[in-house]
Amino acid sequence: QQAEIGVTGLAVMGRNLARNFARHGHVVAIHNRTFAKTQALIDEAGSEGTFVASESLEDFVASLARPRKIIIMVKAGPGTDAVIDELVPLLEEGDIVVDAGNAHFPDTIRREQQLAEHGLHFVGSGVSGGEEGALNGPSIMPGGSRKSYESLGPLLEDISAKVDGTPCCTYIGPDGAGHFVKMVHNGIEYADMQLIAEAYDLIRRGTGKSPAEIADIFTEWNSGELESFLIEITAEVLRQVDAESGEALVDVILDQAEQKGTGRWTVQNALDLGVPITGIAEATFARALSGSVPQREAARDILPAGTVEWHVEDPDAFVEDVRRALYASKVVAYSQGFDQIAAASDEYGWDIDRGAMARIWRGGCIIRARFLNRITEAYERDEKLPLLIADDFFAGVITECLEAWRRVVAGAAQNGIPTPAFSSSLAYYDGVRADRLPAALIQGLRDLFGAHTYRRVDKDGTFHTEWGGDRSETAVGGGFK
Ligand code: NDP
Repeated sequence: QQAEIGVTGLAVMGRNLARNFARHGHVVAIHNRTFAKTQALIDEAGSEGTFVASESLEDFVASLARPRKIIIMVKAGPGTDAVIDELVPLLEEGDIVVDAGNAHFPDTIRREQQLAEHGLHFVGSGVSGGEEGALNGPSIMPGGSRKSYESLGPLLEDISAKVDGTPCCTYIGPDGAGHFVKMVHNGIEYADMQLIAEAYDLIRRGTGKSPAEIADIFTEWNSGELESFLIEITAEVLRQVDAESGEALVDVILDQAEQKGTGRWTVQNALDLGVPITGIAEATFARALSGSVPQREAARDILPAGTVEWHVEDPDAFVEDVRRALYASKVVAYSQGFDQIAAASDEYGWDIDRGAMARIWRGGCIIRARFLNRITEAYERDEKLPLLIADDFFAGVITECLEAWRRVVAGAAQNGIPTPAFSSSLAYYDGVRADRLPAALIQGLRDLFGAHTYRRVDKDGTFHTEWGGDRSETAVGGGFK
């Protein structure tokens, strides 16, 4: 029997994606470099559907109906290239190769060009939702040619998460678009997690509540506008008690956050595009700071907080302030992420629909959240919306949260509690809404030391002041009306 779709790379993600296809009634070809994993899948989950197992890549390719659809789910990087190099000579024109690993989008652009030369479709696809999502319905972000989506799309939509009957999978855009959006998704995930961690820290240090008590607060938040997967699992982690010590698990976990690289890629790309994604950047740097062990040790006993122990007067009011600060900062982080997607879409010619992006992140993925519906609605109102927080709904949210947000950031600063994501999001908000920014002074300085010129508010053109001479102003360059 010829398989409809094939999966090569059967570690946790590939194995579960293959099972997901099989459970949906599709005949799935399976392959892994080391046959033991293929065998294990057959032994442990073979009864879930129809699998066609192959030991060699040749047999695997031969077991697929044409045009072949092959999902590569191996360790991102050289492993992906190795599998592609082995696959290409075995394929025929029109076949579709999907890389569903966490590839960096420039690699995807390169691979797409490479395979196009052989008449093959290459689809770089983001997949979010971890192990559990891969099995029960992930959020899927496929790029590549629109033509490839015609036959591949229905299969992917079938196994994706569904929200209100709508699949959490849609065509994203050419070549690297799918992996790019997955990268920004992960960047937003970094910001979300940092904001949650800051909220927890503030409540703990401000009110002295225990992790279990704070877990109850998160559970309550999860029934309101903050409802999301990350808020839900925060309660679970905070409630967990360490069997060995009897302490809250969060108190025995080493406070050094690790990262695999997608947050860093997001920030690097934002610097290239000149998009201020301060929430994501601060979240990425906060992880780096937590891992800066020698620096933290050098600072710990030497650098004073210069503050007294913080006890807020009205804990309930404080918790509500923190909730609002969290909501406002979260809206800013998403707004920045969507800005980056818009800038990349223009820069790389992808034509990405941001409303659709928010729609497919409503289910299956790690940042799934109730308020993503609101983002979709905002882009439906105005497809070209220049700034998400300037949409009426989100402007309203921030206005409601603003006083609380300022109180929380000010209180944290006065009491020596680091809130890089809360604070930088507020600074971004105040910066982006300002009538005038001190950037004018920076332009003056640049003109003085480097003759870099400036523009004026009252007339067109470019100007330079003769700083070393009579300080008269000269018009430089054209552009006059
Ligand atoms: P791993 O990233 O741990 O990769 C292991 C798999 O890659 C094994 O099947 C291994 O084969 C195969 N592999 C590695 N190098 C090669 C090679 N040179 N040639 C052939 N096969 C190779 O697996 P995961 O399931 O965790 O992740 C798969 C992909 O999905 C990664 O790109 C990951 O970034 C991405 N991803 C993971 C998520 C997660 O939650 N884990 C979530 C979303 C995406 P062998 O058994 O022979 O060693």
